[in-house]
Amino acid sequence: MSQHLSKEQLIEAAEKFGTPLYVYHAEKIEEQVNDLDKAFKECNARFFYACKALSNINILKLMHQLGTGLDCVSIHEVKLGLKAGFTPDKILFTPNCVDFEELEAGKQLGIHLNIDNISMLERFGNKYGNAYPIFIRLNPHIMAGGNFKISTGHVDSKFGISIHQMRHIERIVKSTNLNVAGLHMHTGSEIKDTNVFLAGLDVMFEMVRHFETVKYIDLGSGFKVPYYKDDVRTDVHDLGKKLAAAFLKFEKESGRKMEIWFEPGKFLVSEAGYFIVKANVVKQTTATVFAGVNSGFNHLIRPMFYEAYHRIENISNPKGAERIYTVVGNICETDTFAWDRKINEVREEDYLVFYNAGAYGFEMSSNFNSRLKPAEILFKNGKMHLIRKRDVFDDLLRNQVEIDL
Ligand SMILES: *Cc1c(COP(=O)(O)O)cnc(C)c1O
Repeated sequence: MSQHLSKEQLIEAAEKFGTPLYVYHAEKIEEQVNDLDKAFKECNARFFYACKALSNINILKLMHQLGTGLDCVSIHEVKLGLKAGFTPDKILFTPNCVDFEELEAGKQLGIHLNIDNISMLERFGNKYGNAYPIFIRLNPHIMAGGNFKISTGHVDSKFGISIHQMRHIERIVKSTNLNVAGLHMHTGSEIKDTNVFLAGLDVMFEMVRHFETVKYIDLGSGFKVPYYKDDVRTDVHDLGKKLAAAFLKFEKESGRKMEIWFEPGKFLVSEAGYFIVKANVVKQTTATVFAGVNSGFNHLIRPMFYEAYHRIENISNPKGAERIYTVVGNICETDTFAWDRKINEVREEDYLVFYNAGAYGFEMSSNFNSRLKPAEILFKNGKMHLIRKRDVFDDLLRNQVEIDL
């Protein structure tokens, strides 16, 4: 039985802390971590939670308790991870287009460094040689599932070093004596077909042959979760079996034992999150009925940015007759959350909940329109904990400097 919060629990949270409100469920996160552990138990696997999905310090601490590592894309995420209790060997730094100083700061902290372009590889090799092991992020030129914006392995992508530049990588590694501990690829966010991972793995096995020092193969993420009824989830159990077989075969052929790393973000936290808003107005126009809620893309941008689908439910009127709504926000910009959605009749002041709001929800929020960022709540053992206060008016002015005009 899958863990979830009830409508009553969500309403209780909304009444107590107000809306808009992000609510997370610790037991659901735990369930997802356990599911991955189980799926890959035959593999020599490690998981690094990609914390850009949801980086509240309490979520990081929870992940640490559950035994995951941490995948970070900025030095500040690295520092948050250390603050949450992760030791440096459990932190992987996979930045893109950062300056050399940020990489060096990572080195200083003793974390795993993943380098994703030739120039930085060369600078790092020239300066440190084999004194510090590194990972290299490759672009395998495999098109992942999902849409273009969330795919990172295609030919136009800014991420990674093309596998076709392998000769150049080898030259740099050889002449600077770099210690390549791992190879990494991350082809994108929503892979439905486990064979995409296997195709990527074949490329990685081929690349590993170029470096005797490599011990880790990092396949990034790409674990999809369902967003709507009957939507698919990456079959991690099927994937686990296939990868275990592939690694065993590689081991026999090459005599080398590899550890496999993953960086799941969405898979661990998406379904554990709920975003509760209030219907401010119900507005009948000539074309549709709008449900205008007390939020917008300033709080949840995925529908507008990625055309992502989030299931929406009216938790205040679950027995109401179903009607067709266009759900929009209250900011002065087109901020449509959903067109033509069948929702139980929406009355002004009803609470609506967006599902799958744990990943890239709060994290991508802003103060656009001088609106305040929502509070965050964590449910654990049936208890509600405030883990981030709602913004107050003064937060809008916090870093502004008023000058004499
Ligand atoms: C964003 C990101 C992830 C996590 O992706 P999800 O789709 O949330 O699982 C993993 N690795 C890297 C390098 C990323 O940038």
